[in-house]
Amino acid sequence: MDSVNILGVTFSKMTLSDTVKLIQAKLAADTRAETKPFHLITANPEIVMAAKGQPELRRIVDEADLVTPDGIGVVLAAKWQGTRIPERVTGYDMLIRLLEGAAANGFSLYVLGADEETNAKAVGIIKAKYPGVEIAGRHNGFFKGDQENEIVADIGRKRPDLLIVALGAPNAEKWIYKHKSRLNAKVAFGVGGSLDVIAG
Ligand code: UDP
Repeated sequence: MDSVNILGVTFSKMTLSDTVKLIQAKLAADTRAETKPFHLITANPEIVMAAKGQPELRRIVDEADLVTPDGIGVVLAAKWQGTRIPERVTGYDMLIRLLEGAAANGFSLYVLGADEETNAKAVGIIKAKYPGVEIAGRHNGFFKGDQENEIVADIGRKRPDLLIVALGAPNAEKWIYKHKSRLNAKVAFGVGGSLDVIAG
């Protein structure tokens, strides 16, 4: 894959459309590689800087299956290094394009994160607007430590094709990494404040 290293992070140089195609292929595949999801990280400059100082985050970013430039700062940094990144590939854009594509490429979705009202509303809107998406399950993002195990088990039982995690960055990335061997999802990524945007 064509990539560029910016401050120690290996970024994909794929366009949004090509990244969507790649993720759609992962969602359509009938195998779940080692039961671990394909972990996509849409990394903004804050994550790049934080990874420099936090070995835990560094490892998470290094082990991600794909890191895309979420923020014009990353695109510009590539330019200063003499490399061209075609465009930003954000969590929100990825999510919307995948939802739109569900009319032809249906998949099941687990929606984790945001407050209860926002989560429920966003899921309702997704159901109504994108009937090709099967909602496998949902849970809000304000849970106590002792509830975490049950949430992970719920996702694991429901085996969603796609898990989206709205817990803020980099908490979503850390959460996916911590639990990835039990999630039984084909693809997982953090979506920042996307549920708030969808819920309006
Ligand atoms: N969020 C959550 N649990 C938390 C903290 C945040 O579910 O403990 C949700 C929040 O409601 C919002 C999303 O995470 O829907 C993204 O939050 P924020 O905008 O702070 O993150 P960023 O856009 O910086 O990733």
